[in-house]
Amino acid sequence: MKNVALYIHIPFCKQKCLYCDFPSYAGMEEHMIHYSTALAKEINSIKDKKIKTIFIGGGTPTYLSLAGWEIIKKSIYTLDTAGDLEFTVEGNPGTFTREKLNLFKKMGVNRLSIGLQAFQDTLLKDLGRIHTIYDFKQSFEMARDLGFHNINIDLMFGLPGQTLAQWKETLENVTALSPEHLSCYSLIIEEGTAFYKRFEQGTLSLPTEEIERNMYHETLEYLREKGYSQYEISNFEKGKRQCRHNLVYWDLEEYIGCGSAAHSYSDGFRYRNEENVENYIEKINTEGSAIVEKKKNSTVADMEEFMFMGLRKTMGISKIEFTKRFKKDIHSVYEVVINKYTSAGFMVENKENIFLTHEGIEVSNVIMAEFLL
Ligand code: SF4
Repeated sequence: MKNVALYIHIPFCKQKCLYCDFPSYAGMEEHMIHYSTALAKEINSIKDKKIKTIFIGGGTPTYLSLAGWEIIKKSIYTLDTAGDLEFTVEGNPGTFTREKLNLFKKMGVNRLSIGLQAFQDTLLKDLGRIHTIYDFKQSFEMARDLGFHNINIDLMFGLPGQTLAQWKETLENVTALSPEHLSCYSLIIEEGTAFYKRFEQGTLSLPTEEIERNMYHETLEYLREKGYSQYEISNFEKGKRQCRHNLVYWDLEEYIGCGSAAHSYSDGFRYRNEENVENYIEKINTEGSAIVEKKKNSTVADMEEFMFMGLRKTMGISKIEFTKRFKKDIHSVYEVVINKYTSAGFMVENKENIFLTHEGIEVSNVIMAEFLL
């Protein structure tokens, strides 16, 4: 039986953040129960797989009603899970309650991921976040109180109006709480968002590229000082708390996605579920599946993804794994680009791995683009 990762999507949010292009929606509370019932059906249909990690993301999973969670809990019990299951639930401050956290414990959840983004109420407000710093502190304390010992905090830099000093302040305040894991992403202005409109109109005052580079640099130095080790471009951990679920994506291993807009990668095929919440419910109820696209990944696409996902990790890609998967020596495919970047000091090749250096990580977008065949 195959060991796979399971992603479960909860598409509901209390309010849409101004930068967000995820498949998540505000004002759809009336669909929560029907959605949870359909989702439970989809989860119940997973057969002959051993689940090694579960990640319930969104959206704001902690915004789902308790009644919705009760329905999902039953379906989780039907899964065949590994003994050392990593089980994460994502949530936002202001939506964590004792009841929900206790229910998560009963479900076997052993990791929480909290979306904070910044440690200044003014910046949070400007992002359209629903919570304050006070809400965050309360949620974090509550989670610790109830025995969650593996917590990630999501942060963002390069925000409109954000200064380097504010970013440092965020890092200082967050590390003072000693979470086991931190994700630090730079803000991307995505098409179709409220921020994109303002960006087009020229009314969004973003930090310059140089300031943003300094922010990233500061992140690397400060977190190292505080005992966090970087294991991926944007992810840091201490006490051997790498996120095993995300490593499945970066290692191009198999995963199943349940819920609206969820993706799966299984037996070399990529699947995509219906994104519209009401259509998703309808499809599951009438057809038993919400898959709207299934396509075989070509070997070339697999190689490319293996490289640019793998190079996100600080340990890089395994040359042995490449040969095992593609029955080819990596140099027969990527000789030119490997030589180019190893000789420039952006990449290192040793007996087993190829990985980016610190300098390479800072220009990783450019390097990774060259791995497209
Ligand atoms: S809470 Fe998360 S998913 Fe929901 S709108 Fe904000 S960023 Fe998007």
